[in-house]
Amino acid sequence: MALFMIILFIKHFMQYTHTIIHYDEITLKGGNRPLFERALISNIKEFISEIKCNNIYKEGGKIIIETNKDTDLWKMKEILKNIPGISNFYFAVSEEKDLKKINEKTVEILRGYLKTENKKILRQAQDDRNNKIKTFKIEARRADKKFVLKSPEINARVGEYVLKNTKLKVDVHNPDIEIVIDIGYKQCFIYFTKTNGIGGLPVGTAGKLVSLISGGIDSPVASFMMNKRGAKNIFVHFKNKTIFGQNDSKDKIEKLIKQLCKFQGKSKLYTIPFEEFQKEIITNIPSKDRMIVYRRIMFKLAEEIAKKEKAKGFVTGDSLSQVASQTIDNIVVIYNDAKLPILSPLIGMNKQEIISIAEKIGTYDISILPYHDCCSFLIAKHPETRAKLETIQNQEKNIKIDIIIEEIISKMKPKIL
Ligand code: ATP
Ligand code: MG
Repeated sequence: MALFMIILFIKHFMQYTHTIIHYDEITLKGGNRPLFERALISNIKEFISEIKCNNIYKEGGKIIIETNKDTDLWKMKEILKNIPGISNFYFAVSEEKDLKKINEKTVEILRGYLKTENKKILRQAQDDRNNKIKTFKIEARRADKKFVLKSPEINARVGEYVLKNTKLKVDVHNPDIEIVIDIGYKQCFIYFTKTNGIGGLPVGTAGKLVSLISGGIDSPVASFMMNKRGAKNIFVHFKNKTIFGQNDSKDKIEKLIKQLCKFQGKSKLYTIPFEEFQKEIITNIPSKDRMIVYRRIMFKLAEEIAKKEKAKGFVTGDSLSQVASQTIDNIVVIYNDAKLPILSPLIGMNKQEIISIAEKIGTYDISILPYHDCCSFLIAKHPETRAKLETIQNQEKNIKIDIIIEEIISKMKPKIL
């Protein structure tokens, strides 16, 4: 059965000659629009570099990928779905800008499409023939305003031809299938298999951020959210020593980052040993305040990475009041000394909302794998929920923070994933 499905897909995909990409918020950018378009094209080229295709270019308000019989469209679909900046995309067939040819090509590809789609639908719901594709609508678009027919006329003429030559009926309000006749400058594109992307802005257009990634559910989601806003994350993970020995988070963190690479491409991970600071914190800080000092030091270390990488801010998975270290009073103290802005895109989200995104982006199953994140001495039975900046700063004077940071930074080396 699986093989049969694959053959059907390949047969169905083979007829497509172009992939038409529509972008999201870039359309709102005024004079900066070309910059965003160039960034998106460059990201698409990098992401699909291993897929065989002829050419990628911009035409009108869209990006077009010219494909050929060797293009793995199935793989391309899986990749494009995850590239920030893409609103949606279609596999299309090109035709000369001639109404007779457009009519014939529309019906030809429609027949092929209906055959495979209806078979799929019938297999999924064996008795329910009502699910079959029965209605259509033609949606004409004209980038080339000089084309002899106006959009309503194209709709009427192609619609009439489809009506005569297939069993489909017209439904302009709620069609089962919307067929786009897109009159470009050089050729016409016919398409109807829409796939939604994740929207937002192309990665890199908002610069670089240092993203603090813990191995929990929240921080990978936060990193993804910043990708959608055009930022590239440089990842940092602070590796704790636990009562179980050196923690076993390496595989897990790398798995998480590899999943996040699907959205931002190749990624850098700094793994920072935290053992020295753990010892100092346990010796010098009362248990109720340890988590606060621990997190303040994380930002001091992250700042060194930001300097090195020319990153302009930090990302965390904080969500207001989710745990003791995220009460507003503690957040004030934890964020206070950071020299760059701390972006916490999950701050107003509920845990279930965060989990839904984690599931969608494929990080949830990795995040729930067991591992020992935090040294148990850092977790207090009764943690402070209303930290006072002055008290914390006074306690920190007993730790040689700058000296230890210098030592750690001198040995730090990123891994490319
Ligand atoms: P998460 O699910 O992301 O682990 P959390 O709800 O467990 O978050 P905390 O443990 O208080 O919350 O951590 C808050 C944020 O601090 C994390 O989202 C992450 O950005 C950062 N953080 C915590 N531990 C680490 C770590 N070991 N390395 C890097 N960043 C960390
Ligand atoms: Mg955590």
